[in-house]
Amino acid sequence: VKGDDTRALECVEVVPFLCRARARTLAHALLIEGPPGIGKSVAASQIAAALLCRGNDSARACGACPDCLQGSGHADLHVVGPAEDKRDIGVEQVRELAATLARTSVAGRARVAIVEPAERLTEQAQNALLKTLEEPGVATWLLLTTRRPEALLPTVRSRVQRVRLKRWPSEVLDAWLGERSPDLTADERAFAVRASEGVPGAAMQLLTDDEVKKIDVELGRWCSALGAGGRVPPPQDLVGAVFAGATGGVAAEDRARTVLLLLQRRLASALRGGLASAERDAYGPARIRSWADALEEVLDAQADLDVRIPAPQVVLRALLAVEARLGASSPVPIRVPHGPLAR
Ligand SMILES: [Zn+2]
Repeated sequence: VKGDDTRALECVEVVPFLCRARARTLAHALLIEGPPGIGKSVAASQIAAALLCRGNDSARACGACPDCLQGSGHADLHVVGPAEDKRDIGVEQVRELAATLARTSVAGRARVAIVEPAERLTEQAQNALLKTLEEPGVATWLLLTTRRPEALLPTVRSRVQRVRLKRWPSEVLDAWLGERSPDLTADERAFAVRASEGVPGAAMQLLTDDEVKKIDVELGRWCSALGAGGRVPPPQDLVGAVFAGATGGVAAEDRARTVLLLLQRRLASALRGGLASAERDAYGPARIRSWADALEEVLDAQADLDVRIPAPQVVLRALLAVEARLGASSPVPIRVPHGPLAR
């Protein structure tokens, strides 16, 4: 879900910042944090609009004035992200932004820069940004977004006010999905709410993205073979299917995150089921340990993505690790749930 989506995500944490933006009492540098799909881009756009709007609404941008109508093309709005085909936001881009902010006169009420995703700023770029964060200039605001605040230098973090977007409560997310997509069944919504762990963008993607659905089917097939204790198709085949047409760059990383999320959900669901029946089952404790170990492997793999190990390699390693924990050679019989997680 990206910033220009008008059917906006309404994160409660953003509300006070919108009011401060309207009152022009907002801190001059914000770091908007939260997991992928939580609505960081939307929040940044909403706050930027609230700063630029010349309307009278005290709680948000009016949506109707000449400033609001310019949207993301507003002359006083500067968006900085990785250049096409580049992974990082380089120091040159930051210098250019600083020069632009210094040079441009404010045509309207404010100058706003959005830097996203901020974790892609190189160390050099972060250092170059420090001065602008410290003295942004008159009526100038910087909005940084990140899924990984710990990737930023402490010197950057100490110069920004942090806005933490939290996962949505199940009932709120369920209601939001229902409102946005009235065609969804209660079962579909329940699946998305559970699998997305309260992240609206992820929930929506699970329900609507055909690519994700295809990946989930492949993953279900693999887990099914693993659970049956028979011959498991080589994880390499699964990796090949998952990354077809997206072997590098951000697309591959996103896909890897999706696979790991889906795998994580299956293991977590197995773990929950196992905990419920552990007392009646002699193998229970050992099996639960195996599931927990496998889950930990998947979480480790997510961390590997953060340190930029190539996505297909990360997924392959995770699948091999899960197979080793749960496969036929495992000391106790293991059943991993397969098929749609909705049941
Ligand atoms: Zn307006």
